[in-house]
Amino acid sequence: MRPVESSPIRDLLALTAHPEMISFAGGLPAPELFDLDGWRRAFDRALTGPDARRNLQYAPTEGNLALRGLVAERLTARGVPTGAEDVLVTTGSQQALTVVAATLLGPGAVVAVEEPTYLAALQCFRMAGARPVPVTTDEDGMVPGSLAEVLERERPSLVYLVPNFANPTGRTLTAARRLAVTELAAAHGVWVVDDDPYGELRYRGEPLSPLAGEGVVSLGSLSKICAPGLRLGWLRAPAALMPRLVVAKQAADLHTSTVDQAAAAIYLAETDLEAHLATLRTEYRTRRDAMIAALPGAVPDGTRWTDPDGGMFIWLHLPGAVDTATLLRGALREQVAFVPGAPFFATTPDPSTMRLSFTTNTPDQIVEGMRRLARALGE
Ligand code: PMP
Repeated sequence: MRPVESSPIRDLLALTAHPEMISFAGGLPAPELFDLDGWRRAFDRALTGPDARRNLQYAPTEGNLALRGLVAERLTARGVPTGAEDVLVTTGSQQALTVVAATLLGPGAVVAVEEPTYLAALQCFRMAGARPVPVTTDEDGMVPGSLAEVLERERPSLVYLVPNFANPTGRTLTAARRLAVTELAAAHGVWVVDDDPYGELRYRGEPLSPLAGEGVVSLGSLSKICAPGLRLGWLRAPAALMPRLVVAKQAADLHTSTVDQAAAAIYLAETDLEAHLATLRTEYRTRRDAMIAALPGAVPDGTRWTDPDGGMFIWLHLPGAVDTATLLRGALREQVAFVPGAPFFATTPDPSTMRLSFTTNTPDQIVEGMRRLARALGE
């Protein structure tokens, strides 16, 4: 555990539970949009039907076959032909990351990552003894020229990226770059891990094809489209890799909760998930627009921010020598929270960066939160 840091920011953000606090910190879905009735019915069915007792028993590591089939159907519909046997159910996509790291990385291994990137992925790779190496990103995501250079110089075992509405930047990898990244990785015999919890939360523009190919492992999750408390995610992997991944998962937790998977299989088979997604998109679009509209009046001249087509996050660069970790203390006094950017960097942090999440507050709360942020910045 030595190379894995716990963030002091976590302690500060523990304060955000205060009822007066407006938090733009966590990447949390809006709880009032959870389909409580639908999930209550699904769990009820899972525990009363003919399979009720089986749904409380130990089960295969690979996961519930019906759920794997439903996930495969959704992936196929999004342009990645998938069968149930290509899918491994995981305890959140976070566990998919752990399983991939345990399988493909060892002490001294190198992982090429976007700079900045999802901070719990960095933790996961470091826990496996691997060293994350940054690849330059711009508004179109990972820069292929920089990846080519890292592949030559560092000989990584895998490339990790969040191609849709990335955490923490909100940026999306363009179609041309998707091709370039997979071709470069394939030419070097390097695995690509496409981590995609946000892909179905698009508020503008047309969906782009997921990364594809024999060397690609794709991760997905019900966390952002249904509810994160379910802890249900999956990975899709090439047949050659699957047996190893299954063993890694087995060693971690034998299998994901049987009853939760059964309820999810019932829920996905019987619910119009597209209608639910449409509701989420409409609401989150409004919230994103409210934050984007409030930003110019809240932050100093010279601040730059991303304008995401989907997902949950806006990424800011403040001008001058502002340290957002210091700013956070003042912001918490004003009852508004965000996440400073530093922990998202694999190597040299840029302390003038920060991440704002727009999903858990109503437009009115967002406007008020931005007023508070402006006061903290003024101080
Ligand atoms: N990957 C990314 C990029 C994320 O932002 C998150 C959640 N914050 C996860 C993976 C993990 O999600 P879960 O385990 O809830 O599926």
